[in-house]
Amino acid sequence: MDLKQHIRHVPDFPKPGILFYDISTLLAHAGAWHEALNRLTETLRPYKPDVLVGIESRGFLVAAPLADRLGTGFIMVRKRGKLPGETIRHAYDLEYGEDVIEIQAEAIKPGQRVVVLDDLLATGGTMAAAVTLLEKVGADVVGIGCLIELTFLNGRKRFKMPVHSLLSYD
Ligand code: IMP
Repeated sequence: MDLKQHIRHVPDFPKPGILFYDISTLLAHAGAWHEALNRLTETLRPYKPDVLVGIESRGFLVAAPLADRLGTGFIMVRKRGKLPGETIRHAYDLEYGEDVIEIQAEAIKPGQRVVVLDDLLATGGTMAAAVTLLEKVGADVVGIGCLIELTFLNGRKRFKMPVHSLLSYD
């Protein structure tokens, strides 16, 4: 099955000049979404993760069903102020300004094997921030996964752990 047929390309979203890769059409197609999850499940199984982490918000859509298939827990990395209780945060630079991501302080036990997931890897800035945050709380980040990788942006070069993408565009 050619899963790329199920990714919609939206020009000039969210700003003029940006080509947006829309996973809504993949999610909406039962057979294609099932196949996408099957493939990622088998790719990630050898890492024997203890938990899967999803990055807000579309990373949740990927990580939660995969966690169920792999028999692991699912943990959220969220934007500032969304998680109740004690949190650990990491601030990172954006093109203009900065952003803050958080995780619940007790969510991960030191040394746990973690795979981090998002919908799309572009420059890798978002994923790198999540990996830094997870390492701050003692996680052993053993792998990274995404549905889509924009390989021409070389985001994967930032990471010492393996990066797996279901679909890549160059
Ligand atoms: P990066 O930080 O440059 O790697 O950008 C990746 C982040 O931006 C991910 O959290 C994506 O959800 C989001 N993103 C960037 N471009 C797209 C796109 O074309 N489609 C969907 N999400 C995107």
